[in-house]
Amino acid sequence: MDEACAFCNRMVPTRGHHVVPRCKGGRDIAPTCHSCEDFIHKTWTHNELRDTFNTVEKIQADSRFQKFLRWLFKQQEGTFFRIRRNRNRTGQPYR
Ligand SMILES: [Zn+2]
Repeated sequence: MDEACAFCNRMVPTRGHHVVPRCKGGRDIAPTCHSCEDFIHKTWTHNELRDTFNTVEKIQADSRFQKFLRWLFKQQEGTFFRIRRNRNRTGQPYR
């Protein structure tokens, strides 16, 4: 089941994430990747998720989340770049 993450829009494996924690009476579920879910739970408590950050839009609008997104996309580019650099480097002694 391929579904884009509701928070970062990457096509990565997602699982249902309770936008409002279920223990606080939430029923809305958005597909969320592990990176976003990790970040959301490290950044906000269940009470904050219930009272303030209770929709995908409100979480995306927060500056901490935007910073996390920039970091997330940089990590992906960095990994790709590093793999290409390493290949060039192993070739250098033979030039
Ligand atoms: Zn995500």
